[in-house]
Amino acid sequence: MLYCDKCGHLWQETIGRKLECEWCDVCNNLLKKVPDEYFQDDEFNAKWQDCVSDEMEQKLIKDLVFTSPNFDQYLFDHKDEIKGQKDRQYRAAMEHGKAILAGTDKGNSYGVTCPYCKATNVRKIGIVSRSISASIFGLGSKKIGKQWHCDHCGSDF
Ligand SMILES: [Zn+2]
Ligand SMILES: [Zn+2]
Repeated sequence: MLYCDKCGHLWQETIGRKLECEWCDVCNNLLKKVPDEYFQDDEFNAKWQDCVSDEMEQKLIKDLVFTSPNFDQYLFDHKDEIKGQKDRQYRAAMEHGKAILAGTDKGNSYGVTCPYCKATNVRKIGIVSRSISASIFGLGSKKIGKQWHCDHCGSDF
């Protein structure tokens, strides 16, 4: 588990995300490892490496964050806000990524969607490219009679 000594955010290790040398998502500060003494002891005195109690979190913030030269009161007060904003940006980026994957990020002015994959990233196949493909591939060319090309799945229709 890591903490940020600038904004006071605690970062839990998640699957697929190694937290040895990470940067804070909120303020881009280099994160520090939470010292062992802040982890909760269970009844067998074993340390829960992934669990810091609220009490210990407060103590850690008081001991290590407030005293740090990196500490930033503004970031500390607004970290949840900033994080929410970043999450929204991240989600928006994800949505955009999904649109690219679905081939609908560009859209088109023709109101045409690909009949195969429903993408809107389609373009009109020009006369030139049709005649070139006709001369290269002969009359059997698949492009004959097709008007549109889907940039997403590569189909002509
Ligand atoms: Zn931070
Ligand atoms: Zn398509």
